[in-house]
Amino acid sequence: MSSSAALTAAGIAATAKDPQRLWSPLVRELVPYVAGEQPKIANLTKLNTNESPFPPSPKVREALIAALGSDGDCLRLYPDPDATALRQAIAKQQGLNVDQVFVGNGSDEVLAHIFKAFFCQDKPLLYPEISYSFYPVYSQYFQLQTVPVPLAEDFSIDITAYQQPNGGIIITNPNAPTGVLLSLADIEQVLQQHPDSVVVIDEAYIDFGGQSAVGLINQYDNLLVCQTTSKSRALAGLRVGMAFGQSHLIAALMRVKDSFNSYPLDRMAIAGAIASFEDHAYFEQTCQQVIANREVLVAQLEQLGFLVLPSGANFVFARHPQHAGLDLAAGLREAGIIVRHFNKPKIHPFLRITIGTTEQNQRLVDRLVQMLAI
Ligand code: PMP
Repeated sequence: MSSSAALTAAGIAATAKDPQRLWSPLVRELVPYVAGEQPKIANLTKLNTNESPFPPSPKVREALIAALGSDGDCLRLYPDPDATALRQAIAKQQGLNVDQVFVGNGSDEVLAHIFKAFFCQDKPLLYPEISYSFYPVYSQYFQLQTVPVPLAEDFSIDITAYQQPNGGIIITNPNAPTGVLLSLADIEQVLQQHPDSVVVIDEAYIDFGGQSAVGLINQYDNLLVCQTTSKSRALAGLRVGMAFGQSHLIAALMRVKDSFNSYPLDRMAIAGAIASFEDHAYFEQTCQQVIANREVLVAQLEQLGFLVLPSGANFVFARHPQHAGLDLAAGLREAGIIVRHFNKPKIHPFLRITIGTTEQNQRLVDRLVQMLAI
């Protein structure tokens, strides 16, 4: 065998042995986030990823068409890197100044920038043990130390457990996947106890009956509030998330953004999101409808024997004392109804069910009645 043939054979052998040898060492270790599935199945009752059951405001569609124009020429040009017009529309709606508003490609990206901007510290990041499963993923990505803080017995957040050294705190309110709300008084206590840590309140689901911490921003220089247009504004497909805080916190996020991707929001996303924020009546009406549907669904589930955690979100977290979560999820799936089941300690008996339209919720309840009768 010639030496070049031997080298090639050795090269192939090495590739076969370690196909990941070209990856950065960290990437080999990463455990990525697993998003809820988006199956392309007709007539599916999709109650698994907390999207809105309603379409976005009709004004969003009009704005997208208008922004595109007749020839799409606007797409030739880069968008405004700072999405100032959108930040102005959001600031107006929230009663903030434009320099207190940050926007990004979904709140997942905003959260990534928050982790980079504030949580890369010598001390650990604190977050609830049962919470949004992207937090541990970003913690690994940014190589942070973390302390997952246990919830109370009733799945509420026990703020006394956060009295420990930390390099930042992130709390979801209402929490996910539990739906349980934390009071503003408790949030203020956390802010006061940790004046030298950034405290992030992830309010992805706050518009379904909770009280936002945005009103506390001018009082606390360590408070950052994160929200999304994906749930209450029915714009999960447009990818627009935001953070609110005093201008020095927003300036840090801008530094991170401009060291990563200057143009996180495209022209369509900016135009569509502005239209959504300008149609407040539609937003209010659809949120109220989700809340009303939630109350009906909770009563129906309780009648079927489910234990439902108190929810301030567009989903409920429920378990049945006589039936395993996994079995219930599988039985629903057979009927084309998908909900989220987490095969994890402490929460495996539960189903997380997104609030659907009246018809979707009724389909779910009818199927459960059928299943529980067996
Ligand atoms: N925070 C929480 C608590 C969430 O559940 C989600 C949605 N999976 C997000 C943030 C991210 O939402 P998005 O990126 O669509 O804005």
